[in-house]
Amino acid sequence: MSAFSLSQALAWIKAAAQSIDANAAHLSELDAAIGDGDHGANMARGMAAVTKKIDSAPPADLAALFKSVGMTLLSSVGGASGPLYGGFFLELGKQSAGKTELDAAGLAAVLGAGLGDIRRRGKAEPGDKTMVDALIPAIDALAAASDLAQGTAKAAETARAAATATAPMLARKGRASYLGERSIGHQDPGANSVALLFAALAQACA
Ligand code: ADP
Ligand code: MG
Ligand code: MG
Repeated sequence: MSAFSLSQALAWIKAAAQSIDANAAHLSELDAAIGDGDHGANMARGMAAVTKKIDSAPPADLAALFKSVGMTLLSSVGGASGPLYGGFFLELGKQSAGKTELDAAGLAAVLGAGLGDIRRRGKAEPGDKTMVDALIPAIDALAAASDLAQGTAKAAETARAAATATAPMLARKGRASYLGERSIGHQDPGANSVALLFAALAQACA
């Protein structure tokens, strides 16, 4: 596939909502080990609200879709991840304004701006055991690709491996940081929801 347009973006968000719903219990289990056990429920509630929103008011373009996803996540997810994912998608909306198609590099740039918003808000550095640890290498993998299908597949694989690789890290941000050394040995829940989002993206671009 050569270009990412509204139909791929809609397929991405719908696949992501299904995957988050199917994996909600697992995400909450991961969060129960080092947080308050609600990450799966938070994300599933948000993505269900997103699905309802875009079904009832179909967005006209990429910018409108991502803005709608961001606003809905901001108002329905809560916790640490709500503002972070909400701001991420709002930034995707701003960056895709006036664009009807993105190639692999263009999509990587838009996602990279979303990551920038997460880093500005959350102040997490690489290695702090957060969603940032999956987002950085996944977006880098997409940026290094020329083909959208291959690039998103590589990004999904990279995000999955990066989420697994958060286990030995010491948490320095969010609730998991309250555990100090006891956060070591458990995967970060947010890095795992990122891996699901990128798997859904690859599915939509296959
Ligand atoms: P809460 O911790 O408020 O219950 P969630 O459980 O929904 O919120 O989300 C927790 C996830 O949010 C963590 O696994 C981590 O990936 C992410 N997170 C928390 N704080 C930050 C931060 N400052 N920067 C980036 N990501 C963060
Ligand atoms: Mg939580
Ligand atoms: Mg919570």
